[in-house]
Amino acid sequence: MRGRLELLLCEYSFPVERVGGYKIAMVTAGGVSLQEISPKTMESKIVKNLYFTGEVIDIDGDTGGYNLQAAFSTGFLAGRSAGKIL
Ligand SMILES: Cc1cc2nc3c(=O)[nH]c(=O)nc-3n(C[C@H](O)[C@H](O)[C@H](O)COP(=O)(O)OP(=O)(O)OC[C@H]3O[C@@H](n4cnc5c(N)ncnc54)[C@H](O)[C@@H]3O)c2cc1C
Repeated sequence: MRGRLELLLCEYSFPVERVGGYKIAMVTAGGVSLQEISPKTMESKIVKNLYFTGEVIDIDGDTGGYNLQAAFSTGFLAGRSAGKIL
């Protein structure tokens, strides 16, 4: 009985039937490639004085703060870097 209980708990699967759609989506995947951005300044490697932050970048994580942290950190870096060019 213990074995069956273990199987039930560990191997119970939840097939995904559909995703919720754009209305309840929390984060977007895709965006400007990380290869095209300087990670120390968030400046574009292609267009000078153009900076990318947050959702615009091709980076996303599970909910739990990763996307917010990415937005805050890249925003801070981009703002600080853009401020230096003025
Ligand atoms: C319902 C929901 C729940 C979420 N929960 C979590 C979570 O638990 N943990 C987590 O890490 N992430 C979560 N996220 C994702 C997180 O909120 C985003 O990744 C993050 O806020 C992205 O920040 P951002 O500054 O790049 O973009 P945004 O926060 O979308 O900011 C973009 C801003 O630009 C403005 N804007 C748009 N167009 C123009 C324009 N033409 N001119 C001027 N302004 C413009 C918009 O009004 C907006 O204020 C959630 C998102 C949603 C929608």
